[in-house]
Amino acid sequence: MSILQDSAIVLREYAYSETSQIIVFFTMTAGKVRALGKGIRRGTKKRFASGVDLLDIGKVTVQGRGERSGGLATLTEWKQTRCLSGLRESLHRLHGAQYVAEVTAHLTEEWDPHPGLYQQLEASLALLAESEEPLLALVVYQRALLRSVGSLPVFDQCVGCDRTTELTHFSTLDGGMICSNCAPRHRETKPVRPETLAILCDRAKGTASEGAFALLNHHIAHLMGKMPALAPQLIAPARLATGEQRGQES
Ligand SMILES: [Zn+2]
Repeated sequence: MSILQDSAIVLREYAYSETSQIIVFFTMTAGKVRALGKGIRRGTKKRFASGVDLLDIGKVTVQGRGERSGGLATLTEWKQTRCLSGLRESLHRLHGAQYVAEVTAHLTEEWDPHPGLYQQLEASLALLAESEEPLLALVVYQRALLRSVGSLPVFDQCVGCDRTTELTHFSTLDGGMICSNCAPRHRETKPVRPETLAILCDRAKGTASEGAFALLNHHIAHLMGKMPALAPQLIAPARLATGEQRGQES
Protein backbone atom coordinates (compact mmCIF):
# COMPACT_ATOMS: atom_id res chain seq x y z
CA MET A 1 0.00 0.00 0.00
CA SER A 2 1.46 3.34 -0.99
CA ILE A 3 2.31 5.85 1.71
CA LEU A 4 2.57 9.61 1.31
CA GLN A 5 4.43 11.75 3.84
CA ASP A 6 4.28 15.39 2.92
CA SER A 7 3.84 18.98 3.97
CA ALA A 8 0.14 19.86 3.82
CA ILE A 9 -2.46 22.54 4.45
CA VAL A 10 -5.99 21.67 5.60
CA LEU A 11 -8.52 22.96 3.03
CA ARG A 12 -11.64 21.36 4.49
CA GLU A 13 -12.62 19.10 7.35
CA TYR A 14 -15.98 17.64 8.25
CA ALA A 15 -17.40 14.96 10.48
CA TYR A 16 -17.83 11.56 8.89
CA SER A 17 -19.27 9.72 11.88
CA GLU A 18 -19.31 10.19 15.64
CA THR A 19 -15.62 9.44 15.82
CA SER A 20 -14.20 10.08 12.36
CA GLN A 21 -13.48 13.01 10.13
CA ILE A 22 -12.87 13.52 6.44
CA ILE A 23 -10.06 15.97 5.78
CA VAL A 24 -9.15 17.56 2.47
CA PHE A 25 -5.43 18.35 2.43
CA PHE A 26 -3.48 20.32 -0.12
CA THR A 27 -0.09 18.60 -0.14
CA MET A 28 3.15 19.97 -1.52
CA THR A 29 4.03 17.09 -3.83
CA ALA A 30 0.72 15.31 -4.51
CA GLY A 31 -1.82 18.14 -4.70
CA LYS A 32 -5.27 17.70 -3.18
CA VAL A 33 -5.74 14.54 -1.10
CA ARG A 34 -8.93 13.45 0.68
CA ALA A 35 -8.36 11.28 3.72
CA LEU A 36 -10.44 9.58 6.36
CA GLY A 37 -9.22 10.15 9.90
CA LYS A 38 -10.58 7.34 12.05
CA GLY A 39 -10.95 8.05 15.74
CA ILE A 40 -9.88 11.69 15.41
CA ARG A 41 -13.02 13.21 16.84
CA ARG A 42 -12.74 11.38 20.15
CA GLY A 43 -9.11 12.36 20.36
CA THR A 44 -8.29 8.87 21.55
CA LYS A 45 -5.29 8.50 19.29
CA LYS A 46 -2.02 10.07 20.33
CA ARG A 47 -1.00 10.58 16.72
CA PHE A 48 -3.75 13.19 16.38
CA ALA A 49 -3.31 14.75 19.82
CA SER A 50 -3.23 18.23 18.33
CA GLY A 51 -6.41 17.71 16.29
CA VAL A 52 -6.87 18.71 12.65
CA ASP A 53 -8.35 22.14 11.99
CA LEU A 54 -9.18 24.12 8.89
CA LEU A 55 -6.14 26.08 7.58
CA ASP A 56 -3.66 24.20 9.77
CA ILE A 57 -0.22 23.69 8.22
CA GLY A 58 1.72 20.56 9.06
CA LYS A 59 3.18 17.20 8.15
CA VAL A 60 0.73 14.55 7.04
CA THR A 61 1.03 10.81 6.50
CA VAL A 62 -1.66 9.01 4.53
CA GLN A 63 -1.90 5.43 3.29
CA GLY A 64 -3.47 4.12 0.11
CA ARG A 65 -3.88 6.80 -2.46
CA GLY A 66 -7.44 5.88 -3.34
CA GLU A 67 -6.50 3.89 -6.45
CA ARG A 68 -10.15 3.75 -7.31
CA SER A 69 -11.21 7.17 -8.50
CA GLY A 70 -12.74 9.11 -5.67
CA GLY A 71 -11.40 6.69 -3.08
CA LEU A 72 -10.34 8.04 0.29
CA ALA A 73 -6.83 7.67 1.61
CA THR A 74 -6.42 6.80 5.30
CA LEU A 75 -4.91 9.41 7.57
CA THR A 76 -2.30 7.78 9.79
CA GLU A 77 -0.44 10.77 11.22
CA TRP A 78 -0.73 14.55 11.45
CA LYS A 79 1.52 17.06 13.16
CA GLN A 80 0.96 20.78 12.96
CA THR A 81 4.25 22.54 12.14
CA ARG A 82 3.26 26.16 11.66
CA CYS A 83 0.69 28.20 13.52
CA LEU A 84 -0.73 31.30 11.83
CA SER A 85 -2.65 32.55 14.85
CA GLY A 86 -3.08 35.96 13.18
CA LEU A 87 -5.65 34.46 10.82
CA ARG A 88 -8.08 34.12 13.70
CA GLU A 89 -7.52 37.61 15.07
CA SER A 90 -9.90 39.28 12.64
CA LEU A 91 -12.91 38.15 10.65
CA HIS A 92 -11.56 39.77 7.48
CA ARG A 93 -8.37 37.72 7.65
CA LEU A 94 -10.23 34.53 8.51
CA HIS A 95 -12.71 34.99 5.68
CA GLY A 96 -9.86 35.69 3.25
CA ALA A 97 -8.07 32.52 4.32
CA GLN A 98 -11.28 30.48 4.14
CA TYR A 99 -11.84 31.87 0.63
CA VAL A 100 -8.44 30.70 -0.66
CA ALA A 101 -9.02 27.27 0.92
CA GLU A 102 -12.48 27.04 -0.67
CA VAL A 103 -11.45 27.99 -4.21
CA THR A 104 -8.32 25.79 -4.06
CA ALA A 105 -10.40 22.79 -2.96
CA HIS A 106 -12.83 23.36 -5.83
CA LEU A 107 -10.46 24.08 -8.71
CA THR A 108 -7.78 21.43 -8.16
CA GLU A 109 -8.07 17.71 -8.87
CA GLU A 110 -7.14 14.96 -6.42
CA TRP A 111 -3.56 13.65 -6.71
CA ASP A 112 -2.71 16.33 -9.27
CA PRO A 113 0.55 17.94 -8.06
CA HIS A 114 0.89 21.75 -7.97
CA PRO A 115 4.06 22.32 -5.89
CA GLY A 116 4.36 25.97 -6.93
CA LEU A 117 0.76 26.63 -5.95
CA TYR A 118 1.33 24.94 -2.58
CA GLN A 119 4.13 27.40 -1.84
CA GLN A 120 1.98 30.31 -2.99
CA LEU A 121 -0.88 29.11 -0.78
CA GLU A 122 1.31 28.92 2.31
CA ALA A 123 2.84 32.33 1.51
CA SER A 124 -0.60 33.86 0.95
CA LEU A 125 -1.94 32.51 4.25
CA ALA A 126 1.12 33.89 6.05
CA LEU A 127 0.53 37.28 4.39
CA LEU A 128 -3.17 37.23 5.27
CA ALA A 129 -2.31 36.45 8.90
CA GLU A 130 -0.56 39.83 9.21
CA SER A 131 -2.60 41.87 6.77
CA GLU A 132 -5.13 44.62 7.42
CA GLU A 133 -6.15 44.59 3.75
CA PRO A 134 -6.69 41.02 2.52
CA LEU A 135 -7.56 41.95 -1.09
CA LEU A 136 -3.92 42.38 -2.12
CA ALA A 137 -2.95 38.85 -1.04
CA LEU A 138 -6.21 37.47 -2.41
CA VAL A 139 -5.74 38.87 -5.94
CA VAL A 140 -2.17 37.51 -6.07
CA TYR A 141 -3.49 34.10 -5.03
CA GLN A 142 -6.45 34.14 -7.43
CA ARG A 143 -4.01 34.73 -10.31
CA ALA A 144 -1.63 32.01 -9.10
CA LEU A 145 -4.46 29.49 -8.74
CA LEU A 146 -5.91 30.22 -12.20
CA ARG A 147 -2.46 30.03 -13.80
CA SER A 148 -1.67 26.78 -12.00
CA VAL A 149 -4.85 25.03 -13.18
CA GLY A 150 -4.38 26.35 -16.73
CA SER A 151 -7.32 28.75 -16.65
CA LEU A 152 -5.71 32.18 -16.31
CA PRO A 153 -7.59 34.46 -18.72
CA VAL A 154 -5.75 36.49 -21.37
CA PHE A 155 -5.49 40.04 -20.04
CA ASP A 156 -2.91 41.65 -22.35
CA GLN A 157 -4.65 41.28 -25.70
CA CYS A 158 -8.08 40.93 -27.26
CA VAL A 159 -9.17 37.29 -27.51
CA GLY A 160 -11.16 38.23 -30.64
CA CYS A 161 -8.51 40.00 -32.76
CA ASP A 162 -5.21 39.96 -30.76
CA ARG A 163 -5.24 43.76 -30.50
CA THR A 164 -3.35 45.01 -27.44
CA THR A 165 -4.96 48.46 -27.09
CA GLU A 166 -8.43 49.66 -26.07
CA LEU A 167 -9.14 46.51 -24.11
CA THR A 168 -12.40 47.57 -22.50
CA HIS A 169 -14.36 44.43 -21.64
CA PHE A 170 -13.87 40.97 -20.17
CA SER A 171 -15.55 37.77 -21.30
CA THR A 172 -15.49 34.72 -19.04
CA LEU A 173 -16.75 32.44 -21.80
CA ASP A 174 -14.04 33.60 -24.21
CA GLY A 175 -11.41 33.53 -21.47
CA GLY A 176 -10.06 37.05 -21.65
CA MET A 177 -10.21 40.69 -22.61
CA ILE A 178 -12.17 42.04 -25.55
CA CYS A 179 -11.32 45.29 -27.38
CA SER A 180 -13.79 48.08 -28.08
CA ASN A 181 -14.14 46.96 -31.71
CA CYS A 182 -14.98 43.38 -30.86
CA ALA A 183 -17.10 44.07 -27.76
CA PRO A 184 -20.44 44.53 -29.61
CA ARG A 185 -20.10 41.01 -31.06
CA HIS A 186 -19.75 39.42 -27.61
CA ARG A 187 -22.86 39.04 -25.50
CA GLU A 188 -21.49 38.07 -22.11
CA THR A 189 -19.03 40.81 -21.20
CA LYS A 190 -18.14 42.96 -18.22
CA PRO A 191 -16.64 46.45 -18.50
CA VAL A 192 -13.13 46.74 -17.06
CA ARG A 193 -11.47 50.01 -16.06
CA PRO A 194 -7.84 50.66 -17.16
CA GLU A 195 -6.58 50.71 -13.55
CA THR A 196 -8.21 47.35 -12.89
CA LEU A 197 -6.70 45.94 -16.08
CA ALA A 198 -3.24 47.10 -14.97
CA ILE A 199 -3.61 45.01 -11.81
CA LEU A 200 -4.92 42.02 -13.76
CA CYS A 201 -1.92 42.26 -16.13
CA ASP A 202 0.39 42.43 -13.09
CA ARG A 203 1.58 45.89 -14.12
CA ALA A 204 0.53 47.48 -10.82
CA LYS A 205 2.27 45.45 -8.14
CA GLY A 206 1.31 46.26 -4.59
CA THR A 207 -2.07 47.63 -5.60
CA ALA A 208 -5.29 45.96 -4.49
CA SER A 209 -8.69 46.66 -5.90
CA GLU A 210 -12.17 45.36 -5.42
CA GLY A 211 -12.58 45.44 -9.21
CA ALA A 212 -9.67 43.03 -9.80
CA PHE A 213 -10.84 40.73 -7.00
CA ALA A 214 -14.44 40.76 -8.28
CA LEU A 215 -13.44 40.03 -11.88
CA LEU A 216 -11.12 37.14 -10.97
CA ASN A 217 -13.77 35.86 -8.56
CA HIS A 218 -16.34 36.05 -11.38
CA HIS A 219 -14.10 33.85 -13.53
CA ILE A 220 -13.44 31.44 -10.63
CA ALA A 221 -17.19 31.22 -9.92
CA HIS A 222 -17.77 30.35 -13.58
CA LEU A 223 -15.20 27.52 -13.38
CA MET A 224 -16.65 26.29 -10.06
CA GLY A 225 -20.22 26.46 -11.35
CA LYS A 226 -21.22 28.49 -8.30
CA MET A 227 -20.29 31.60 -6.34
CA PRO A 228 -17.60 30.91 -3.70
CA ALA A 229 -19.46 31.00 -0.38
CA LEU A 230 -16.95 33.32 1.25
CA ALA A 231 -16.80 35.92 -1.56
CA PRO A 232 -19.74 38.03 -0.27
CA GLN A 233 -17.94 38.26 3.09
CA LEU A 234 -14.98 39.93 1.41
CA ILE A 235 -16.58 42.67 -0.67
CA ALA A 236 -20.13 43.99 -0.85
CA PRO A 237 -22.38 41.72 -2.92
CA ALA A 238 -23.31 44.60 -5.28
CA ARG A 239 -19.63 45.19 -6.09
CA LEU A 240 -19.13 41.46 -6.47
CA ALA A 241 -21.79 41.33 -9.17
CA THR A 242 -20.64 44.26 -11.29
CA GLY A 243 -16.95 44.31 -10.48
CA GLU A 244 -16.77 47.98 -11.45
CA GLN A 245 -18.40 51.22 -10.40
CA ARG A 246 -21.67 52.23 -11.93
CA GLY A 247 -21.30 54.48 -14.95
CA GLN A 248 -18.57 52.33 -16.47
CA GLU A 249 -20.94 50.07 -18.30
CA SER A 250 -21.30 50.38 -22.02
ZN1 LIG B 1 -10.71 42.77 -30.69
